[in-house]
Amino acid sequence: MQQYVYDFEQGSKEMKTILGGKGANLAEMSSIGLPVPQGFTVSTAVNFKYFENNDALPEDVVKQIDDAVKRLEDKAGQKFNDPTNPLLVSVRSGAAISMPGMMDTVLNLGINQEVAESIAKNTGNYAFAYDNYRRFIQMYSDVVLEIPKSNFDKVLEEYQEEAGINTFKEFEKEKMLEIIKEFLEIVKVKTGEDFPTDARSQLLKAVEAVFRSWKNERAILYRKINAIPDDLGTAVNVQRMVFGNYDGTSGTGVLFSRNPSTGEDALFGEFLFNAQGEDVVAGIRTPEPIANLKNDHPELHKEIYDLAKSLEKHYKDVQDIEFTIERGKVYLLQTRNGKRTAKASIKIAMDLVKEGLIDEKTALLRIPANSVDALLHPDFAAESKASGTVLAKGLAASPGAAKGKVYFTAEDIVEANKRGEACILVRKETSPEDLAGMLNAKGILTSRGGMTSHAAVVARSMGKTCVAGCSDILVDEENKTLSNGTITLKEGDYISIDGSDGTVFAGELQFEEAKNSDELEILLDWSDKYSKTMVRANADTPVDAQVAIGFRADGIGLCRTEHMFFDKNRITSVREMILAENLEERKVALEKIRPFQEEDFYGILKTMGERPITVRLLDPPLHEFLPKTEQDIEDLVKVTGKNKEHIMTVSEGLHEFNPMLGHRGCRLAITYPEIYKMQTEALITAACKLKKEGVKTNPEIMIPLIAFNEELEMLRKLVKETADKIIKESGVELEYKIGTMIEIPRACLTADKVAMNADFFSFGTNDLTQMTMGFSRDDVNVFMGEYIDKKVFEVNPFVSIDQEGVGQLVKLAVDKAMSTGKEIKIGVCGEHGGDPASIHFLLSCGLQYVSCSPFRIPIAKIASAQYHIQNESK
Ligand code: ADP
Ligand code: MG
Ligand code: MG
Repeated sequence: MQQYVYDFEQGSKEMKTILGGKGANLAEMSSIGLPVPQGFTVSTAVNFKYFENNDALPEDVVKQIDDAVKRLEDKAGQKFNDPTNPLLVSVRSGAAISMPGMMDTVLNLGINQEVAESIAKNTGNYAFAYDNYRRFIQMYSDVVLEIPKSNFDKVLEEYQEEAGINTFKEFEKEKMLEIIKEFLEIVKVKTGEDFPTDARSQLLKAVEAVFRSWKNERAILYRKINAIPDDLGTAVNVQRMVFGNYDGTSGTGVLFSRNPSTGEDALFGEFLFNAQGEDVVAGIRTPEPIANLKNDHPELHKEIYDLAKSLEKHYKDVQDIEFTIERGKVYLLQTRNGKRTAKASIKIAMDLVKEGLIDEKTALLRIPANSVDALLHPDFAAESKASGTVLAKGLAASPGAAKGKVYFTAEDIVEANKRGEACILVRKETSPEDLAGMLNAKGILTSRGGMTSHAAVVARSMGKTCVAGCSDILVDEENKTLSNGTITLKEGDYISIDGSDGTVFAGELQFEEAKNSDELEILLDWSDKYSKTMVRANADTPVDAQVAIGFRADGIGLCRTEHMFFDKNRITSVREMILAENLEERKVALEKIRPFQEEDFYGILKTMGERPITVRLLDPPLHEFLPKTEQDIEDLVKVTGKNKEHIMTVSEGLHEFNPMLGHRGCRLAITYPEIYKMQTEALITAACKLKKEGVKTNPEIMIPLIAFNEELEMLRKLVKETADKIIKESGVELEYKIGTMIEIPRACLTADKVAMNADFFSFGTNDLTQMTMGFSRDDVNVFMGEYIDKKVFEVNPFVSIDQEGVGQLVKLAVDKAMSTGKEIKIGVCGEHGGDPASIHFLLSCGLQYVSCSPFRIPIAKIASAQYHIQNESK
């Protein structure tokens, strides 16, 4: 007989697939002797059995549940429906991968009018007894009967307002019974049936409802966002209740064993005395920070601290813990590895290494590569903050700085995002329904809720800036405005929020320039230690190159020469060259550009020294440089002595229908070899000059947009002859390489031939993606949103490489190049060179280096170190 139901004593933390994360950890905590109320878990395997069985529990499962209840009754010394000592349980969802708050939980199950009365009698605490009962009616109705909780909240609030009190427990007994009666009446009206009284049938219905909640909308969305497979299913945990709502010596709370925002080694969390379950996160009463316990109840604080630390030692990671205190005794109800901000993930990993709990490799694997971004873009510029208009101050719920236009609903954010606007979601508080909005916003601002409110927790896990509980502002979701009393912002107005200190500003602030930190240095040390991949920068100027060196770039993988052409002082000469009608004229113009190019190359080569630097010869379509304004044309008239009409006619003649597929890249040099010749001369002259000054350099000349090896053969010859002549004349020794950018599918398909004329390949994955898909990168935004919505692909292929299609071309090209037996260096210089998923894929294809924008270097370094760590153990 297959086992579907496991007592907590039978499980362990390794059994997450079967028991779900919550169940596996409840089992683990029980087995290491921590105070966990007894219970059992119905395995994840039952979830899909339930769906296959027309949304009903199979009989053998029901039998195993019945047996487990009997065992639980024996262990607890309590029984379902027993007036002397009734067993109440919670029914809790929990998938293998944690999806906090996405699925359903029912507390106090097993209660009915009689049981409530006997609890009142047995304990002499009627408020407690009826509080449990009314909570159960609300939760069961919500989860099982699908009568939204708000129906009951409305009634309760009316009663509370009338009586001028805040909580149910403050009512007189008669009022409580009256409210409960109204609750039961609501159920009767909505379902046409009486509220169920039998514990066993309540239990089975609740278990089914939890299984159903796997397919509720917010759970589906959460899985989509977090790339959690839809076929895992949830387990269901049935657990004896312990009561934080018993009296003033009881309570409930949530805590992190370390601060999940900053990583600081101190308990971080909130609790409420005399409360149950979701009260802490619901925002009805304001919870107290856990640190307060230290003064008021030091013994309790110590007990909780010790439990948190022993969990941390056991799991070797920060724990996110749910606990309940019943009459002074602490029970653990859940633990899992704590979600944390980028900043915290780094500090925590480093501290755990120092404490000897984990090693450097484990630490590196725990830091999401993209998260170092937060170290690099931390804040608004100080001056900008000082002069900004402060609207209000809230809680610093998730660090970082964000600015954008204000929107008040998730839908409006999604729409605004489609229009390409940066936006900030502003709400009183968020709920799981707002997930899509949160995901598409740059930052989140709420007027209610604490540090563990939904907005705060979700924002931290998404790495989004969030200011929560900003009670100084009034949010009017209906009229779409927010106001601090003096300043009012309406939809579409700009706002800036600082999640590191909670300040909210009207208008747009400036971001601070990114900076290196000590933590970053350690991370780079570790990455360099465990990575075998060179990380280069895409950098066009000595300033960029300097930034890249700050991040320990191993070289430059892409130095675009055209950016050097756009300079105000040069563009007229460049235009003169383009409009030249014969070789002589072109040469005259090129001679004017040469000194500038040489100077640029000198600067960047000198900055990089011995680190290799790949210089790409002129690539874009010539029309990009054409004169645009009257002034441009007048300048040209002056320089060339030609008349205006003539210049305009020649300009128009250069018009192309598809410039990206037109006269650009190496094609320019096939028709006008003198352009590449001048560029080569400028580069090699600069390198020789530096050599004479005692600076060694490693120039690599890259020829773009090769489709045919004939093109490369021709241009390689041109470049080589030009370079060798200069080297010879200058009498120094200089080594250089000639290679090509692989960015046209035909070059991939014929890579073995192309390789014969290349010392290196650098995949230009932007153009390769554009040409493989036939998507114009400049026009794709019009339909990209729809393509992602409609799941043609999951992520924008210009952000993360399309492994199936474009990736296949890369792999093929690498294999073909390798098959020649020729020594050839292969790397990437498209945007993908800074994307962790793409890096993992490209390294698995056999690439030896990646190149990305300077600020992505740390990300690329960590991602490649992670790749090598993961693959050495295989
Ligand atoms: P979620 O996955 O949404 O966090 P849980 O199943 O963890 O849902 O339940 C939420 C809260 O309900 C817990 O943090 C705890 O406060 C309360 N709870 C659950 N089971 C019990 C129990 N057996 N006794 C007391 N409180 C419980
Ligand atoms: Mg929980
Ligand atoms: Mg290109």
